[in-house]
Amino acid sequence: MKVLVINAGSSSLKYQLIDMDTKTLLAKGLCERIGIDGSKLTHKNIVKKTETVFEKPMKDHSDAIAMVIDALISPDCGVIASMDEIGAVGHRVVHGGETFADSCIIDDGVMDAIRACVPLAPLHNPANIIGIEACAKIIPGVKQVAVFDTAFHQTMPKEAYMYAIPYELYQKEKIRKYGFHGTSHKFVSQEAAKFIGRPIEDLKIITCHLGNGSSVAAVKYGKCIDTSMGFTPLDGIIMGTRCGAMDPAVVTYLIESCDMTAQEVDDMMNKKSGVLGVSGVSSDFRDISKAAEEGNERAALAIDMFAYRVKKLIGSYVAAMGGVDVVVFTGGIGENDARYRLKITEGLDCFGIKVDPERNDVRGVEKDISSDDAKAKTLVIPTNEELMIALDTQRLLGK
Ligand code: AMP
Repeated sequence: MKVLVINAGSSSLKYQLIDMDTKTLLAKGLCERIGIDGSKLTHKNIVKKTETVFEKPMKDHSDAIAMVIDALISPDCGVIASMDEIGAVGHRVVHGGETFADSCIIDDGVMDAIRACVPLAPLHNPANIIGIEACAKIIPGVKQVAVFDTAFHQTMPKEAYMYAIPYELYQKEKIRKYGFHGTSHKFVSQEAAKFIGRPIEDLKIITCHLGNGSSVAAVKYGKCIDTSMGFTPLDGIIMGTRCGAMDPAVVTYLIESCDMTAQEVDDMMNKKSGVLGVSGVSSDFRDISKAAEEGNERAALAIDMFAYRVKKLIGSYVAAMGGVDVVVFTGGIGENDARYRLKITEGLDCFGIKVDPERNDVRGVEKDISSDDAKAKTLVIPTNEELMIALDTQRLLGK
């Protein structure tokens, strides 16, 4: 079966076509500026290693899906003979609230439930819904599956996900920790168990997804029991432009004493903070590392703050799980940057976590980077959220 994986944004749409018999990527691409002047589709045929750019107006997501299908079946740059070869569509959906603890086949009831989660993800869920509706229109009859960023974290116990604010706010407004990046944490924890050849049901795994957005999860016996992102993806670790966890009283202070509006504070915390805010250099960790090497003290501080937060989270999750067997690094930084992995794990030998500097000299491949004397394994596992979406789609359709 071939699965089309869709990640729809408000004015963009990313896709991958994956052959599930061989687990290989056939084509991928990006539609940009949907509904805006200058729309374009960049399509990559992975088999022939070609890239084709189509510049054509896309007034909405249905136009975008129609162009994607045309590209996929095109005699020049396509990878399939006809639309009938698409066995199913798997959609990334950001928020499943408390309704979805797993991926699910989309029907009218599921669409209503995804719509009901819009207040929890007002920027993302509406775009995901438009993507699903566009596929239903352009390729009717093809089964669609929704895979939620939040679903993997629904196994968290109540003491982990509740906030200590009046209980009615949880009951009425659904304010609680949800966690995000669930598809990635699920994928890399499963891959880690396979990699070391042990059942995931026997393992206590800490997954560190470190990228532009970052989160850490505690996966005990295959189930997430805690994660660092919260009600929104702002919580937890310091990120590229996001502040991560801080005293919530800072927000009221800025509004009441510094004449900032709620929107300005939100913007500051999401777009102007993190390593960008601290360093004043960039949100990209490569730029931050370079600046720190050249003597920029604020860049060095941003790195120290980032690594310290991740280290503390790892320690707290060892406590939460009563031990650790595997630590996984993934995401743009986790997969590629040896310096961060070393810095984060420094001093964690008290938990049996120790990285071998030579083995750690690796980028973008699955590898055991632990020292011989480490009790816990530290692994680099490249994430593949699209493959996880396709695997869930295949599992649910029983093919
Ligand atoms: P992501 O959001 O997972 O794509 O990760 C983006 C972050 O990963 C950026 O801050 C990059 O600096 C970092 N990153 C990506 N590739 C590399 C690399 N080859 N070496 C070091 N950092 C990288």
